[in-house]
Amino acid sequence: MKITNVRACQPLTPESPDDWRTSMGQILVAVDTDLGVTGYGVGGGGFAGIHVVQSVLRDVLLGQDPNQIESLWSAMYDATLAFGQKGIVLMAMSGVDLALWDARGKCERRSISELLGGAKQTRLPTYITVWDNVALAKVADRSHQGFKLHLGEQSPLDESVDEFADRIAAELREARRLIGPDRELMADAWMKWSRTAAEAVIERIDDVQLSWLEEPLPLDDEAGYKALVALGTVPIAGGEHEYTSASFQRLVERKLHSVLQPDVNWVGGLTELIRIYELAAQHDDIRVCPHRGAELWSLHAIAALDLQPLAESGRPWMGWVDGQPPILDGWIEVPDRPGFGAAIDESTLKTYAAPQFADHWQSRR
Ligand SMILES: [Mg+2]
Repeated sequence: MKITNVRACQPLTPESPDDWRTSMGQILVAVDTDLGVTGYGVGGGGFAGIHVVQSVLRDVLLGQDPNQIESLWSAMYDATLAFGQKGIVLMAMSGVDLALWDARGKCERRSISELLGGAKQTRLPTYITVWDNVALAKVADRSHQGFKLHLGEQSPLDESVDEFADRIAAELREARRLIGPDRELMADAWMKWSRTAAEAVIERIDDVQLSWLEEPLPLDDEAGYKALVALGTVPIAGGEHEYTSASFQRLVERKLHSVLQPDVNWVGGLTELIRIYELAAQHDDIRVCPHRGAELWSLHAIAALDLQPLAESGRPWMGWVDGQPPILDGWIEVPDRPGFGAAIDESTLKTYAAPQFADHWQSRR
């Protein structure tokens, strides 16, 4: 079998937020083969990601055997080493890698979880992220098995660290009261807190039983992360904005996180997610909980490889991926269709038009 084409586009997502998740949004990658099988994957990077696929990755893959995924991954990584390694290039590579896995599954008529050794369980618990306790109160029934409160805000200038920490701790205590003692509760600071503020919050929430505190600090504050992990009181999570298993290896070796949250559509695809699970398996104190894991692209790996599965609810605006299983009463079924089980109807797909680079260049006049 040989790869005959590699294509990418950015499907229209009218419901997506007006931020980088649209302007640098999800791209759809198709890998066509001479057997007539097309594999699909989703990556990131918007038009910049499409440019990486069309101008570099496609040339690496044309004529190659799509089953050699690991060596093709290395070839793509090597071809982009001078300008890649992280960010948009890895987001684009993720889509290609997932499309290769999808093609393999379709050719072998096996689901991705079967390719990974089989699902340990085909029904996985889910969690949802909410932005405040008002929203949490509305979903805190049996709708999910876990809940995450998004607390990504900097402390206002007129608020002392103690006042900030008291307020955040009170919100978390109220969240725990709303969901009861049995289900998982997490908090996400989205890289916005200072180390002092994070330490003050952690000091106050012994009774809250947080499963993890996510991205409490800016990502380059390694000393801060090390200090928070060393406290040993609340597991420190992160990784949705990190790229490649090699980077996760450094996070583990330097003891910067104890919960790893790779995003399969950004980190380098399924090939890298598998390696991150293998890395975690060597450490008793490391948990993996993929970012937006309830989307089809992570679901199979969670089912087959995760010892403590919990799938984060996905992005509702990606309606162009048919076959996404619904979440029912906090559980999601892993599909057993070949590949990831995603159905893409190219005949009805609407995409963003190519940006007018020439007009942009001329706009100075
Ligand atoms: Mg997050």
